Amino acid sequence: MNQHHGDHDHVHHGSEISPVEARVRALESLLTEKGYLDPAALDALVELYETEVGPHLGARVVARAWVDPAFRTRLLTEATPAIAELGIGGRGGEHMVVVENTPEMHNLVVCTLCSCYPWPVLGLPPVWYKAPPYRARAVIDPRGVLAEFGVTLPETTRITVWDSTAETRYMVLPMRPAGTEGFSEEALAALVTRDSMIGTGLPRALPVEPAEMPV
Ligand code: FE
Repeated sequence: MNQHHGDHDHVHHGSEISPVEARVRALESLLTEKGYLDPAALDALVELYETEVGPHLGARVVARAWVDPAFRTRLLTEATPAIAELGIGGRGGEHMVVVENTPEMHNLVVCTLCSCYPWPVLGLPPVWYKAPPYRARAVIDPRGVLAEFGVTLPETTRITVWDSTAETRYMVLPMRPAGTEGFSEEALAALVTRDSMIGTGLPRALPVEPAEMPV
């Protein structure tokens, strides 16, 4: 672990084609040409992850943990079977670990070696998650990386960085936003963003009166 690349490029948030994506496309073309790959089957798999498997599933897990303390305990103790209670699981999610944000501790997930990601709960990883700048800098300067994502934490909040592997995939349980008492699980899930479950973001803020708008 901890392969530091030593570069200090900014984290890319755009959807430009990364070197890895270019390699994937080249491999896909080659494998198809050689007859090892059925493009239609690959498209169906990509479609599955783009439409059915996605962060809305992780959001359901988070919302359940917010309303059900016993579930939250099971989730933080042994995540994989707890997530399976909601009918969620599968390849890449066999060994899930869920880490809880608190006022004292913020958690950030990275894969320094490659791009291991909890597919069954979050779907396909964003481009920046797979990019070397994020993978290197999340470890060296997590607070700086968070700032680039627009997340500023109190100085008293410590940051723990979790390095995913092919074996163990991490998901963050973000803090339940204030003012959501009495919200339904569905309404709560709608506040949970993908990035808040990676740790590069926070749940959506509630609509606020103009006078209370943060600057
Ligand atoms: Fe990886």
